[in-house]
Amino acid sequence: MTTLLINSIYRATEGEGIHIGIPQIFVRFQGCHIGCVNCDTKESWEFDPSYTKSLDEVMEQVETLSQNIIKRVSITGGDPLHPSHIPSLLDLIKELKARGYFINIEAAGTRVVKEVFDQVDFISYDVKTPSTQVRTSKELLLKFIQDYAHKAQIKAVVADKKDFEAAYDAFHFVKAANDNQVPWCLTPCFEPGEAFPMNRFQLVVQLNEKFGLPFRVIGQQHKWVYGPDVKSV
Ligand code: SF4
Repeated sequence: MTTLLINSIYRATEGEGIHIGIPQIFVRFQGCHIGCVNCDTKESWEFDPSYTKSLDEVMEQVETLSQNIIKRVSITGGDPLHPSHIPSLLDLIKELKARGYFINIEAAGTRVVKEVFDQVDFISYDVKTPSTQVRTSKELLLKFIQDYAHKAQIKAVVADKKDFEAAYDAFHFVKAANDNQVPWCLTPCFEPGEAFPMNRFQLVVQLNEKFGLPFRVIGQQHKWVYGPDVKSV
């Protein structure tokens, strides 16, 4: 029997990236070893077996939330691409596809997992910026774009000018080596517990205008609507 480590399953409206504003069902895996210091879902880090669910339970929750109306699922985490999740993740994807769901996966930018990426409809791939204290390999990013630009976006959380410059640098590294077009989104950081960071948002918008790049600056809408600390929205 397939079992999965699942933090939560909920219906909400996509709050960031190019699909912002679209209702979907989120399946959040439990367990992540990547360790971004500004992670806003630290409660999903532990590989805790008490979060185990059967595939049938997961699908039942998804179908109940969907009501056969919302046929989009975003698989997120935690780190759904951690090697220990892959067998159960592939079973989940197979079942969702069989029932006609559009599947997005949130990739932390630390792995390209061909057997997963080939199966899903869309991949949101992170470029980790210096403020996360996690590094995204530019060579891996390039390989990802070469293979999956047709169904992907690149996202980078930006806390300051140094983060912007790191995203700028990664963008130009890829552009110099590859012509594939892929949307790049900058997400101004909105940390748990803080008031809306208007100055940070303005800095990112103004840097993007100044550098004239094809970045789209898209904030985390769900945090404006519900506040930065509310989960599963
Ligand atoms: S990859 Fe995601 S869940 Fe893991 S630490 Fe980074 S932001 Fe948090």
